[in-house]
Amino acid sequence: MLIVMRPDATAQDIERVNDEIRRRGWQPHAIPGGTRTAIGITGNPGAVEPEPFRVLPGVADAVPISQPFKLVSREVKPDNTTVQVGGLTLGGAAFHVIAGPCSVESREQILSTAEAVKKAGATMLRGGAFKPRTSPYEFQGLKDDGLALLAEARKETGLLVTTEVKDTATLDAVCDATDILQVGARNMQNFSLLEAVGERRKPVLLKRGISATIKELLMAAEYIVARGNTQVILCERGIRTFETMTRNTLDLNAVPMLKQLTHLPVFVDPSHGIGVRKAVPAMMRAATAVGADGIIVEVHPNPPCAKSDGFQSLDFPEFEKAMNEVRAIAQAMGREVVRLG
Ligand code: PEP
Ligand code: MN
Repeated sequence: MLIVMRPDATAQDIERVNDEIRRRGWQPHAIPGGTRTAIGITGNPGAVEPEPFRVLPGVADAVPISQPFKLVSREVKPDNTTVQVGGLTLGGAAFHVIAGPCSVESREQILSTAEAVKKAGATMLRGGAFKPRTSPYEFQGLKDDGLALLAEARKETGLLVTTEVKDTATLDAVCDATDILQVGARNMQNFSLLEAVGERRKPVLLKRGISATIKELLMAAEYIVARGNTQVILCERGIRTFETMTRNTLDLNAVPMLKQLTHLPVFVDPSHGIGVRKAVPAMMRAATAVGADGIIVEVHPNPPCAKSDGFQSLDFPEFEKAMNEVRAIAQAMGREVVRLG
């Protein structure tokens, strides 16, 4: 149920509605909009009777929400959500590029990559410190040392940083070191982790699970937003299909679908999406054309020697060339790829 307040509703009217919701043991969620405030309700076990709310002062309407995801749905909030982070606005008119290695490997590696991606036009640096690997014998990341190196690269370049939070045990440490918390595909339905990041007030890049439907991605985002963290960016990163020539199948269908269904910003990860280095630039261009708000791309100084995902990482010249193409396509779409000042 969504309680839509009239544009002239007072703070007192809004509080009255909140009280009525709490009195029933449910939770109100304020959803500020361009012209009016709305109040979402969660925690109700069944359908909510609209009439008792419709008669309250300042209430314009009480409308049922047809989707199982509530707070993240466009029905509840028609305006796009923008995520404010370090002076940047994600999900607005600008198109953003996050780039960097799959894993932080060394000081030189992360600093040189940060410089190169900044020069090519990225505004944010990626790099895993706590890596979720398929095999326990593969490189697991530099962990706390990796976080410290990311912080150093951030300081040197002014790039914002995103890195994956693998579990609740390391959440505090990752929060201190990063501007955006990345929740990885393998953790998209780790509900304890979703609840824990929902308690923080740090933006979250939530990646689609390897075999997750669009609805499951939205339900996962709902876990975070229901805890009060509204700064969520969704990320399509490819799904597992019968195809074996590519690592995953980048589901670009998800972008226009998500844009219809949710007000949250939508990013695309073409690197994991296709998993083939030479093919990544084409999918960067496609993601830009299909209407994503930004992309996250793996870039490494020497991809064949990378400790993880070298086979899908671009080197610096490849990234620079692909960025020029992305800029042209973004412009054709009426968007600008912002650079750091
Ligand atoms: C990554 O970004 O390096 C990563 C592990 O991504 P995903 O969770 O999408 O597999
Ligand atoms: Mn990777």
